[in-house]
Amino acid sequence: MNYISLDLEWNQAYAQKALAVQKRLECRLRGEVIQIGAVKLDENLNLIGSYRITVKPKFFKVIQRYVMRLTGIDQDMLDHGTPLPEAIERFRRWCGEDFAFLTWGPDDIPMLEDNLRAHRLDGSWLHRVYDLQLIFNRQTDGSKNQRSLEYAMEHFGIEQNLPAHDALNDAYFTALVAQKLDVAAGVAQYDERRGDNLLSRVIGDADGGEKGFPTPEAVLGDAAVTSPVCPLCSAPLTPQNAILHSKGQRYTQLFSCPEHGKLFLRMHMLRNFNGTFRAKYVIQPADEAGEKDYLKRLQDSAASTRRRRPRRKPKKSAEDAAVSETN
Ligand SMILES: [Zn+2]
Repeated sequence: MNYISLDLEWNQAYAQKALAVQKRLECRLRGEVIQIGAVKLDENLNLIGSYRITVKPKFFKVIQRYVMRLTGIDQDMLDHGTPLPEAIERFRRWCGEDFAFLTWGPDDIPMLEDNLRAHRLDGSWLHRVYDLQLIFNRQTDGSKNQRSLEYAMEHFGIEQNLPAHDALNDAYFTALVAQKLDVAAGVAQYDERRGDNLLSRVIGDADGGEKGFPTPEAVLGDAAVTSPVCPLCSAPLTPQNAILHSKGQRYTQLFSCPEHGKLFLRMHMLRNFNGTFRAKYVIQPADEAGEKDYLKRLQDSAASTRRRRPRRKPKKSAEDAAVSETN
């Protein structure tokens, strides 16, 4: 398998223009890709090829001044760029068959996915991606901070001898950082962690062309949440306790499958571009520590709700409503 170190530059539009375009397309588009840069590495991390193409934008055609300053790409270059469908076709051919992407940070692939969706192009070939920034952190000081590519280069004494914020140069620097890391081990650990989830899904993703939920309560009332099935055997899951609502619109509930034991459904609710709601949820096996933590936080939250409740006017809080619905 080859690795493809990928970097993108994108152009943006002013907020109002961006919103109008997203409404028209009925999908998220926070930026439009204007340059693709990539470096191919073999499985021993030898550099075996490079690719760069300037893309002519279709929706945000006027280059933002700061993007021009940052990337050195000007309006004339954009106007003479290759339209995305053709650029992607060529790029995909260059990528070949058996490869995984290496990116610096989590932003590039979702941006490319959004762009493909806006053009109604297939994005399923982008699924194998490793964020080298995470692998770098895990294999150096274990930090959770997002480190810049410059930071990693300095850490390994890699000289910055080409201008940054050119997609190919950044892909090349990312490849040089990869050569200093144990990428195979990083990838193996990555796959292992992903295996923690038996299921990972998004419902109500209006950004992705689905119908969003009008309210958070509507998400909580969806069958995927109220009557989930076991991802391993499709048996209906039985709730073991109430929904725990924690900060940042996160929800956790303990279920059990007759055959596969206790499972957690964990959900994160987010707002779509058009104001509706979507939820990302995973189902994972419940370990003892996780279950203990969940039960304790459920108790704490019930206790604080009791304290907050005025004595004379017993009014149901939204939290209680969520709890009583599922009991
Ligand atoms: Zn099961």
